Amino acid sequence: MARLIPGGVNSPVRAFTAVGGKPFITTKAKGAYIYDIDGNRYVDYVMSWGPLLRGHTFPASIAAIRRAAGNGVSFGTAAEAEFELCALVKKRLAWIDMIRLVNSGTEACMTAIRLARGFTGRKIIVKFDGGYHGHSDSFLVRAGSGLATGGLPASAGVPAELSALTISLPFNDLEAVDRCFDRHGRKIAAVIVEPVAGNMGVVPPDDGFLELLRTKTAEHGALLVFDEVITGFRVAPGGAVELFGIVPDLACYGKILGGGLPIGAVAGKARIMKMLAPLGPVYQAGTLSGNPVSAACGAALLKSLNGRIYKQIENYAIELTKSLEAIAAERGIPLTVNRVAGLFTPYFSAEKVTDFETARRSNMKLYAALFRVMLNHGVFVPPSGYEAWFISDAHSRTHLNKTLRAFERFAVLYGK
Ligand SMILES: *Cc1c(COP(=O)(O)O)cnc(C)c1O
Repeated sequence: MARLIPGGVNSPVRAFTAVGGKPFITTKAKGAYIYDIDGNRYVDYVMSWGPLLRGHTFPASIAAIRRAAGNGVSFGTAAEAEFELCALVKKRLAWIDMIRLVNSGTEACMTAIRLARGFTGRKIIVKFDGGYHGHSDSFLVRAGSGLATGGLPASAGVPAELSALTISLPFNDLEAVDRCFDRHGRKIAAVIVEPVAGNMGVVPPDDGFLELLRTKTAEHGALLVFDEVITGFRVAPGGAVELFGIVPDLACYGKILGGGLPIGAVAGKARIMKMLAPLGPVYQAGTLSGNPVSAACGAALLKSLNGRIYKQIENYAIELTKSLEAIAAERGIPLTVNRVAGLFTPYFSAEKVTDFETARRSNMKLYAALFRVMLNHGVFVPPSGYEAWFISDAHSRTHLNKTLRAFERFAVLYGK
């Protein structure tokens, strides 16, 4: 396999390089479980990196996929399912006027930035260290996620002329934002931010951080873009916009939006969205965009969500993270858990993790050991300490207990 596909994987984090593990090949998954080719079963905290808020093979999603596929898998014309999904999105995101569906989170962010540049006639993009916005050229500057895991500062193949148009600032650094706007304010097309960072592990915004981004961009005629590819429909039905009450100009979605099938979206105010072709001069297109099967699967997932499910996921996340902290404390292992709603990351660190620097100072070797012990005890956690752990409402107390028992084994081995 590794001879046919570079590294044996179609996305680098699947190679388990940072945790010294052997990558496994999945044969199937169901509910909270994932099964590998050797017949092992694991409680899954990767959950396809976020889309599966209701677990693997969620019955309503699978039924919707079957129904939609029976009517044709792609048309190359507008399709009914796209409008249904967009209407469901609009119901949760009252602040948006229009949506354009694309095929991935990467495409959504790439489109948002082109739109921001087209709208403002400016070139500079501001992002934050450890922020990941997909793998398009402009964003691979001090990006988190796979690049951080692999220890890469940036990607080869991105011209320096292009990277020069991306400014990356420390997350949660209000003074750095002030200084950047003082110097470059009138050249900045957009600030793009994960409102809760999820690709350097989970890092919540400090008080006043998102507010400052909102004021500064508005003051200087730049656009504020929220990358809600992870947080959208997760930290609240209306995502981080609902949770924090800060309204951006554009937002990017993916992951949960497709319920596990490929999709992405950029959404926002009409005066900006109307710049997109065919209404305006900013070009964007896709043969499979708004795919009817993806749209039907995403719609089934969105329709199934309610307050009780959000509450259950958050409660389990609280219970699990508190127990992890208690076990670590008992064994003298320094552990800091960052959590926002049902989204969390444990860092082996005695200090607070508030940005990429502090995330990097946590003990990643110990995280790698954790990964291996957990896997040996039937629990699949993200194969990198720079990632969020994802739970679903398919996770039950049985799964939580199994997870905590595995963590206890780890704590006995590596603690005092
Ligand atoms: C996953 C992710 C992306 C990229 O989405 P893909 O569907 O993998 O292209 C962009 N932004 C954030 C915040 C993400 O977590």
